[in-house]
Amino acid sequence: MRRPIIAGNWKMYKTIEESISVAVGLKRRFYTFSEADVVICPPFTALSKVHDQIVDSSIMLGAQDIYWEESGAFTGEISPNMLKDAGCRYVIVGHSERRVIFGETDEDVNKKVKVVLKHGMIPIMCVGEKLEERDNGTTFEILEKQLTRGLKNIAKEKAVRVIIAYEPIWAIGTGRTATPQQAQEAHKYIRDFAERSYDKETASRIRIQYGGSVKPENIAQLMSQEDVDGALVGGASLDVHSFTEIVENAVK
Ligand code: PEP
Repeated sequence: MRRPIIAGNWKMYKTIEESISVAVGLKRRFYTFSEADVVICPPFTALSKVHDQIVDSSIMLGAQDIYWEESGAFTGEISPNMLKDAGCRYVIVGHSERRVIFGETDEDVNKKVKVVLKHGMIPIMCVGEKLEERDNGTTFEILEKQLTRGLKNIAKEKAVRVIIAYEPIWAIGTGRTATPQQAQEAHKYIRDFAERSYDKETASRIRIQYGGSVKPENIAQLMSQEDVDGALVGGASLDVHSFTEIVENAVK
């Protein structure tokens, strides 16, 4: 049985004060919560202060990106130890906004996944196709390429800790959600990939989240699919009430 995991990606929203306010609101409901892993990923500037708020609760802290070097002259980047120091246990890697806007490649994603694992944190590795790729029938080809390159040279003992987030780019921030069937089909493809690359046991343990316009109203149906183990939530995670409802509806 895979444990559900709901993560909120706050993107480039919220000041430190606003972040603390959301964290405090969520902590009221999820101070102790055992039915799912609940992760929030504030902007870098708020990580440490949010950590102070949630440290004694069930809510866990995640970062939205990382750099693969340990330290050095890399202006503007954040190292694995800096994220650990701030209290992060999870790191989102290869989000489509990083890939599309900032030109992040599958090779970059692979380096980031490896460094997150090396430092004992959990990578949430995002994959997903663009609208034109879905329309021209190359969704699985794209997933195959992103998974093969993103997980290159990662042994199965480590791969079981990787969380894969299937995020069709056409569904991110658009209000257009993949149907539960479309999500299940892609998640099954990802699990089959894990079985081909590793083995059945490893594939059965890897958690796969769906991301793309997840809301309180559609989470239950998505979660009812066999291979959907959770959600990576953008817009709807910025509000205490909607994120709370998403988590509650995910485990009903
Ligand atoms: C995301 O940012 O990963 C995401 C899925 O965004 P949204 O929920 O707003 O579509």
